[in-house]
Amino acid sequence: MDDYLKAALEIVKAQASVRNMTEEEIVNLARNLTASLKGLVGGECEQKAEAAACDPSKSIREKSIICCECGKSFKILTKKHLATHGLDAKSYRVKHGYKKNLPLVCKGLQRERRKKMTEMKLWTKRGKKAAVAKPKAKKA
Ligand SMILES: [Zn+2]
Repeated sequence: MDDYLKAALEIVKAQASVRNMTEEEIVNLARNLTASLKGLVGGECEQKAEAAACDPSKSIREKSIICCECGKSFKILTKKHLATHGLDAKSYRVKHGYKKNLPLVCKGLQRERRKKMTEMKLWTKRGKKAAVAKPKAKKA
């Protein structure tokens, strides 16, 4: 923390040498700079932690998916939420190294969706198979 203050004071000194500043201005600048510097470094740490959590295999869990941008967990990462980070699903995937077609939903929902999709495919296949390839399927 002292390091931030020192760094901030260096900047304040430099500022004060090039323009006239009131004591209040100097104090405010020092305070703001300290906070900003802390924020910068803190932000970096957070980003690293998020990046680690952002391994697709780790951020997508059974009942939640973690937004790599803010670290919050959801069942589904919606377009609306990604938009709050200035991203869409595509750029989000690219940014965080997700596979192109990886659904941004928790595992439980992914499975449900896949099940529904498979069921739907089965139904369409069944319809076709019934007409064309039913005997073959029985042999196999
Ligand atoms: Zn987020």
